[in-house]
Amino acid sequence: VKWVYTFGDGKAEGSARDVALLGGKGANLAEMASLGLPVPPGLTVTTEACNWFYNNGRVLPPGLQEEVLKGIAGMEAITGRRFGDAGRPLLLSVRSGARASMPGMMDTVLNLGLNDDSVQALGHDAGDARFAWDSYRRFIQMYSNVVLGLDHELFEEILEDEKNRLGHEFDTDLTAVEWQHVVSLYKEMLEEELGEPFPQEPHEQLWGAVSGVFSSWMNARAVTYRMLHNIPEAWGTAVNIQAMVFGNLGTSSATGVAFTRNPSTGEKTLYGEFLVNAQGEDVVAGIRTPQSITEEGRIASGSERPSMEKLMPQTFAAFREICDRLEAHYRDVQDVEFTIERGKLWMLQTRSAKRTTRAAMKVAVDMVAEGLITREEAIARIEPSSLDQLLHPTIDPKAGRDVIGSGLPASPGAATGEIVFTAEEAVAAEAEGRKVILVRIETSPEDIHGMHVAEGILTTRGGMTSHAAVVARGMGIPCVVGAGTMRVDLRNGRLIGMGMTLEKGDVITIDGSSGQVLAGRVAMLQPELSGDFGRLMEWADGLRRMDIRTNADTPSDARAARSFGAEGIGLCRTEHMFFDGGRIHVMREMILAEDEKGRRAALDRLLPMQRQDFTELFAIMHGLPVTIRLLDPPLHEFLPKTGKETREVAAAMGMDEAVLGQRLDALHEFNPMLGLRGCRLAIAYPEIAEMQARAIFQAAVEAARETGAAVVPEIMVPLVGLRSEIDYVKGVIDRVAQEVTGEAGLRIDYLVGTMIELPRAALQAHAIAEAAEFFSFGTNDLTQTTFGISRDDAARFMTIYQRKGIVDHDPFVSLDFDGVGELMEIAATRGRRTRPKMKIGICGEHGGDPVSIRFCENIGLDYVSCSPFRVPIARLAAAQATI
Ligand code: PEP
Ligand code: MG
Repeated sequence: VKWVYTFGDGKAEGSARDVALLGGKGANLAEMASLGLPVPPGLTVTTEACNWFYNNGRVLPPGLQEEVLKGIAGMEAITGRRFGDAGRPLLLSVRSGARASMPGMMDTVLNLGLNDDSVQALGHDAGDARFAWDSYRRFIQMYSNVVLGLDHELFEEILEDEKNRLGHEFDTDLTAVEWQHVVSLYKEMLEEELGEPFPQEPHEQLWGAVSGVFSSWMNARAVTYRMLHNIPEAWGTAVNIQAMVFGNLGTSSATGVAFTRNPSTGEKTLYGEFLVNAQGEDVVAGIRTPQSITEEGRIASGSERPSMEKLMPQTFAAFREICDRLEAHYRDVQDVEFTIERGKLWMLQTRSAKRTTRAAMKVAVDMVAEGLITREEAIARIEPSSLDQLLHPTIDPKAGRDVIGSGLPASPGAATGEIVFTAEEAVAAEAEGRKVILVRIETSPEDIHGMHVAEGILTTRGGMTSHAAVVARGMGIPCVVGAGTMRVDLRNGRLIGMGMTLEKGDVITIDGSSGQVLAGRVAMLQPELSGDFGRLMEWADGLRRMDIRTNADTPSDARAARSFGAEGIGLCRTEHMFFDGGRIHVMREMILAEDEKGRRAALDRLLPMQRQDFTELFAIMHGLPVTIRLLDPPLHEFLPKTGKETREVAAAMGMDEAVLGQRLDALHEFNPMLGLRGCRLAIAYPEIAEMQARAIFQAAVEAARETGAAVVPEIMVPLVGLRSEIDYVKGVIDRVAQEVTGEAGLRIDYLVGTMIELPRAALQAHAIAEAAEFFSFGTNDLTQTTFGISRDDAARFMTIYQRKGIVDHDPFVSLDFDGVGELMEIAATRGRRTRPKMKIGICGEHGGDPVSIRFCENIGLDYVSCSPFRVPIARLAAAQATI
């Protein structure tokens, strides 16, 4: 096996295609080296070596050291330095780099190779002893933390004490001699803690660091991050070992990060931030607020501090050219890291840039126009579930704004919530159903769980590439960072801005699109769905084969879905119509009636209300298909649950409480989900189905007369398992249809179909299709009945199942292809054997899940139906499924 791939000096053993083996960072360093870009020479230890490490009790694989040493010899030849040499030492950076980006989750060691001797050489070389001792103490601290397991605090305490003793305020105030003293204090403490001195031998340091970086793959942060982002543990991390370059060698040195286009808006302008005289981690960590690299950016941010363009015009020009080349080469927006060592530019990383959905849309559409990518590629590049971000509300421009601070617009959309100051408070509040804005000085990977549940995130420090900004954009959560005029007083739990003091629990609004922070609640506007979004959706619509319908029970749902591009209603759950205002009382009368006569009396009163519902839906959908499902849930869902409710209902209905209690007992079911529900209701009480069918046909007649648009209602029978069930219910519907159309003297076309949500129905689909004119997969129930797992109780143990690796995803969220999927395939095939042209769709929750939508495409369904806000997601996912 080959464990090591080298790069440098215009050559590389790997390339961008080797992401799985070399990790993202390693593969792209190799690619950049091959392109002849200035990359410090180095090597990548493969992810396979990492897996070997874990499979063999955490030791490095045999042969690895020889290969690394050979690679280092190559680096020595290129740099003219020697690793471990006291005269011209080669110093190394040792960094993690997984297949998927895991920002800040794993460890890094810089300045490796320094010891009591080479620190002198570094000082001499750099002509700066202070820099050398500062580098040495940073190395000791990082190495001790990553490899030897010592807490950062131990080192920070020593440094704080020294600064106090010397009367210094900032780290930069310390002299060379003072840093040298700090180093000796660090080493004393370390020897006391560990019983051994700090390793002086560079090779020992190197093997320690490689093992340390491998080990960080399993640290708690990384494990959590992988779980949140579905990154398999088996991928492992690579380790990148490179010749050090220094951004902190005085004022002609700098370090920074940049995006080849604006990651927030997608605008085609180089966009980035840098810090003079700093090491790379300083920019990402958000400890100092960085400066803009371009003049344009500086002006836009209103900063007085000079841009890199102004400060280092030649280096900047070279950098801009490299960025253009990288973007053209990768045909995508790049996110790059660079360091300038005494005027010499070095590229340290490039990767496809994370971006907001709005930016992703703009970039995709622009790049098609630029001829860089095809429409299909543009469509394929948008993550369907990320469209959610665009559907976020924004602040109404006409609303009054009580601005209490402002920062950088790090992630778009506006959010309102109560102030909390810690991730723990955020989680606790969310559990109580309260909406919160997480307010921090800055965030770190430890805050992830709190960021996840917050409506929005506000920090008072850091730039557009700080942890908070990157993570919030990834999660699609509105975020404002670096609100420097505001102050977080953690001790007293207060946020202070513009002379206003707010406390934990006070409501604020943040505008992630402008960077403003506002007191209280503010009026919001719903999102605009034209422009790039509209264009891309148009392309997607042109590409997809399946129709997209919506699950809508109310006129407002139906209207929203239409505005999102729904092409009909795939499921109208009629039960939801009976909970409204006065209807529930009539519904209860019907359910509690002694006999059919009583039931019919109540149903007669429900009929006009139902008819009104359907008339409205038909009008909104204007000739598009509307699938209406007959009443599905067990009847006791409409009845009182507690003793108090029972008393109230009895009083309201003028019924004896004891009699009501008896009726409730009689209706009680041990397992209602498998009880008297679905088509069983229509068979036990056909007068209910009759009323609903009558309402549907009368509404269709009315709609046809009023709008002139032909309505073809699709009536859907739930929970069918037997051919005879659908036969019976269809008989009721057909009879009512004849009556109504006869009375009206108007022909109404309609379809009667069934849901496929029981395994028996799937297996008997050929027989059921003799009566049913269409199928719609109710995958919520089909998943429940295939697994024998209650859909209402699954959440309690599905997370345990996922954590223990029993299942890799929740089958109620994303289809179980092997079991439920096979039943669907069987049903579709057998159904079409009987009725070749029959329409088949899906209306369970899976109809809005991109992975499940791909499956539906593959088995040839005609449409998917999902909740209104998922319609755009489904349109895009259905298009991607055809690519
Ligand atoms: C289903 O079971 O998938 C379905 C759509 O019906 P409901 O969720 O109403 O049971
Ligand atoms: Mg169902």
